[in-house]
Amino acid sequence: MKALTIAGGGLAGLGLAHALRRHEVPVTVHEAGRYPRHRVCGEFLSGITPETLAALDISEAFADARRHLDGTWFSSGKKLLEFSLPTPALALSRHGLDVRLKLDLENKGGQVEELSRLSRHAREGLVWTAGRIPRRGPWIGLKLHARDLKLGSGLEMHLGGNGYIGLTPVEDDRVNVSGLFQLDPRREGKGPVLLLDYLRAGGNGSLAERLAAATIDESSFLGVSGFELGWQGGDTSLCTLGDAAGMIPPFTGNGMTMALESAELAVAPLLRWTRNETGWDETVAVIRKDLHRKFARRLAAGSVLHRILLDKRGAFLIRSLAGLGLLPFRPLLAMVR
Ligand SMILES: Cc1cc2nc3c(=O)[nH]c(=O)nc-3n(C[C@H](O)[C@H](O)[C@H](O)COP(=O)(O)OP(=O)(O)OC[C@H]3O[C@@H](n4cnc5c(N)ncnc54)[C@H](O)[C@@H]3O)c2cc1C
Repeated sequence: MKALTIAGGGLAGLGLAHALRRHEVPVTVHEAGRYPRHRVCGEFLSGITPETLAALDISEAFADARRHLDGTWFSSGKKLLEFSLPTPALALSRHGLDVRLKLDLENKGGQVEELSRLSRHAREGLVWTAGRIPRRGPWIGLKLHARDLKLGSGLEMHLGGNGYIGLTPVEDDRVNVSGLFQLDPRREGKGPVLLLDYLRAGGNGSLAERLAAATIDESSFLGVSGFELGWQGGDTSLCTLGDAAGMIPPFTGNGMTMALESAELAVAPLLRWTRNETGWDETVAVIRKDLHRKFARRLAAGSVLHRILLDKRGAFLIRSLAGLGLLPFRPLLAMVR
């Protein structure tokens, strides 16, 4: 059986490696960083199914995840909509989850090379799961963990004039605070102060005051900029999965689910290659086609809704519909699943 190399030890890479080890494929994951580490991520998985977790053989890693069914959307501090999800979103910190998946993988005989950055060149047997492609982009993602922060419902989403931010209770009485904003050189401060400045600038001053009164874990603060949402493009002969293939807007809470689902759909074609039943070029082409079939509608819908949320007239329309009780939350949610 032929071996596979995976570049990037996030959810797509580790999820894929677990599934391949189940079939005894020799697999090495190269991760540029070290575990454990914080990530810019809202840390709730929406739309994930027990079947996908089982297919990847990673159900156990999520066994103690918090489960959230309810939430509230706010717009500049005012309640817009209370919602209930069709199935619970799973919430746990990437700081805990990624290292857990890495250790479990090693116990199954997978290799993980930390501080190992591969170069982005297509070659036979290489799967690229190294996340979004760095490029000039209009966004900044900011994230921190806070304690002593009370939430009215399971999840909170806050829409502002310059972006949106989610609050998700994770383990150890921590609340993940994670947002996407339009990059603005006028915003000032470092670390959590910068996040508060973005919130105030977007009309979310009351949320900024709530955060300022909470206990913030400064070491959990992270920021990332220089990326585009949607299909990432690039060399079509490279086998890409997860964010490296396409990035859905974060308000959907579906990025990690997409990373795991993309790993799931790649397993069968990759297994055929390891058994010499198909060539590499054909394997990559099949995976690309399956990715487009599964995610094209979801990414397109996510992109349209994202634009509406961040457009003044779009946000006004949403506020008006929500005020009349006419916002079709479940049908809109179904479009980004
Ligand atoms: C602000 C924000 C909030 C978000 N909130 C949510 C949310 O609430 N729910 C949700 O589901 N999704 C959310 N997402 C999206 C989610 O984080 C991603 O979709 C998910 O992490 C993608 O997983 P991945 O494995 O494809 O990539 P990643 O998790 O980014 O993993 C890629 C890995 O590759 C490594 N790497 C990079 N380059 C190399 C290299 N050259 N060689 C080797 N390794 C390399 C990186 O160090 C990293 O560990 C959010 C994103 C942002 C920006």
